[in-house]
Amino acid sequence: MIHQLVSLFLDHDRFVVTTHTRPDGDALGSQLALGHFLRKLGKEVHLINTDAPPYNLSWMPGTDAVEVFDGALRQLEILAGAEVIVVLDTNTEERLGKMGAAVRSSPAVKVLIDHHPTPESWFDLQYRRESASSTGELVYELIVAHDPGLIDAALATALYVAIMTDTGSFRYSSTTAEVHRIVADLLERGGIEPAPIHAAIFDTRSVEGLRLLSRTLDTLSLRYGGQLGYLVVPQRTLREIGADVQETEGFVNYVLSIEGVRVALLFIETERGTKVSFRSKGDAYVHEWAQHFGGGGHRNASGAFVRKGLEETIREVVDAAPRFIDFGPETATAGCGAAGRAPDDGVLSPEDEAYLASLLDLKSRNA
Ligand code: 5GP
Ligand code: MN
Repeated sequence: MIHQLVSLFLDHDRFVVTTHTRPDGDALGSQLALGHFLRKLGKEVHLINTDAPPYNLSWMPGTDAVEVFDGALRQLEILAGAEVIVVLDTNTEERLGKMGAAVRSSPAVKVLIDHHPTPESWFDLQYRRESASSTGELVYELIVAHDPGLIDAALATALYVAIMTDTGSFRYSSTTAEVHRIVADLLERGGIEPAPIHAAIFDTRSVEGLRLLSRTLDTLSLRYGGQLGYLVVPQRTLREIGADVQETEGFVNYVLSIEGVRVALLFIETERGTKVSFRSKGDAYVHEWAQHFGGGGHRNASGAFVRKGLEETIREVVDAAPRFIDFGPETATAGCGAAGRAPDDGVLSPEDEAYLASLLDLKSRNA
């Protein structure tokens, strides 16, 4: 399969490489890496996305060459005239956003390189593996299958960003010995260092971003005996603070870091509906839950865009949780907090919190 793909790349000249809306590190890193690779093979390559790169990834070598889809004739001609279109890190037309229809209807050979489950059927050739840590890992395999000598600093940086961001900085269960071998190879071949890359991606928060984090953490609610936690970002808060919605990246992980929480949600209010992020630990799988609300993703990290208001979306998504997650017999239907005394909205009152704190304090003293 991988050699078939390499041959296809060698045999054609005009390429478009694209990825999903609101591109993350894996999406953009894989795209830039494949772009560098194809150019080194002497190919004509257009990198076109529905959304611009986020601010904390814009420093990556080659991002200037990424075009934002505008629906104008020139780009429609590029898409229609391409010999090969490669779709990275998503497997649905919808996740390509505004340019999805033009990609799908192009007469080009459509190639999918991805690690998500259940791809749509319109791809002509697929290189996919759900167990892969990232799409970047698959792009690495492809490049190495042809010529590992092509990996230079720019290419190594792009793949490092892809793999590092999609493994949560090498923390998630998808992080294997092989992932570390790949990363070691990238560091050596590219002559690159991890520290400045991590600093450029994670140590670039704005003051507004940190204020937004503070306000958002204050919205924490716990349900189902403390196994589900969620945060809420209303439009009003974004406006008041003057923060960009991109600054919410990673907020949901704070919820997952709470002991006892198995499922974490982040609700972001937008003008057209509510963006929901689903994250989980271990065998609490969230992808079918996200699919139920029109989204999708991985077993432990999914997302959905619900075309409803904030309050309604929160209620429906949280109430649907027991249909997809086994919270155990005592909490299967109850919307109770950790102490079992929370009001119906699942938010602990100050009295409840004090009571809970005293119980925990007692427990630790008796332990
Ligand atoms: P995030 O919560 O970071 O936006 O998304 C987490 C993961 O869920 C993404 O990597 C992607 O796999 C998936 N995902 C997010 N939003 C959507 C969506 O609207 N539709 C689908 N099908 N998948 C999504
Ligand atoms: Mn990915």
